[in-house]
Amino acid sequence: MLLRAFSVLVVAIGLSLAGGTLAPRPAWAQATAEEEANRRASVLQNTPEWAAKVQFGKRNTPAASLEARAIGSYARGCLAGAVALPVDGDTWQVMRLNRNRMWGHPDLIAYLESLAKSAPRVANWNGILVGDISQARGGPMLTGHASHQIGLDADIWLTPMPRGKLSREQRENMPATNMVRADWMDVNPAVWTPNHTKLVLHSARDRRVHRIFVNPAIKKAMCRDAGADRAGLNKVRPMWGHNFHFHIRMACPAGSENCQDQDPPPDGDGCGKELTDWLDTQYKAIFAPKKPGGGAPARPKPPMSVDALPAECRTVLVAR
Ligand SMILES: [Zn+2]
Repeated sequence: MLLRAFSVLVVAIGLSLAGGTLAPRPAWAQATAEEEANRRASVLQNTPEWAAKVQFGKRNTPAASLEARAIGSYARGCLAGAVALPVDGDTWQVMRLNRNRMWGHPDLIAYLESLAKSAPRVANWNGILVGDISQARGGPMLTGHASHQIGLDADIWLTPMPRGKLSREQRENMPATNMVRADWMDVNPAVWTPNHTKLVLHSARDRRVHRIFVNPAIKKAMCRDAGADRAGLNKVRPMWGHNFHFHIRMACPAGSENCQDQDPPPDGDGCGKELTDWLDTQYKAIFAPKKPGGGAPARPKPPMSVDALPAECRTVLVAR
């Protein structure tokens, strides 16, 4: 169990222990087109056809004949009537186009466009770089993400959008910036700026946004930089990984009757003991991992089947 928790953590953070030094490398969320293709091929080879991630991973177009709705929960569900975020806007550009994960509930897409529009004013950025949202019909994915299944989650790079249009090659392969210091206890002041805090807090303050996930080290910086106006800080939640991007999670939109909201985040700014516990646990997992215990290695869990999703997701899968 502990071993498993640790390996999940290491995968999430994307670390390598090469040569005894702990060197962050691009986490899967930032994997290049080639890395992504290799991973996809290997997962496809080792996963049965009935797995929901195979079925939903193969659908490249949305269930456009169905009314838009988020179905199920963030980590077990699907998406009807998805729309795509256009790959270029005045103040945004979509990254890693090969993954075809620029689909979302129309309310999320509208929100992202408004967030992008506000980035120059709020953070003095040219705009935002948008990472994974959802697949065309949502559902589990062949690579990465347990959530992002119902078109209400989006990853926004912590690298500001550069001036000018990125080439196709840059969008597939340009690395994102790791915002966290080498000891994982704080941000790297050479790359993290007060404008990052402003943009993430601004995103959190929108009433449509339910939660935002950032690395505990980033939350620590935000707690320090937020100043007197701490509104929205409670929605910014510490989570493993999330050192290259922040993850926006929208609340269930009106009209999505079978969408399951999470509980609201706890009261308070979340800058106290909870945060220090996250930082401690993260530090120990990276620098002093528990040795694997004896006994047989845990058998890998079978993948989620299509039947394990809400029944409506079958309709989504076959709809035109
Ligand atoms: Zn995410």
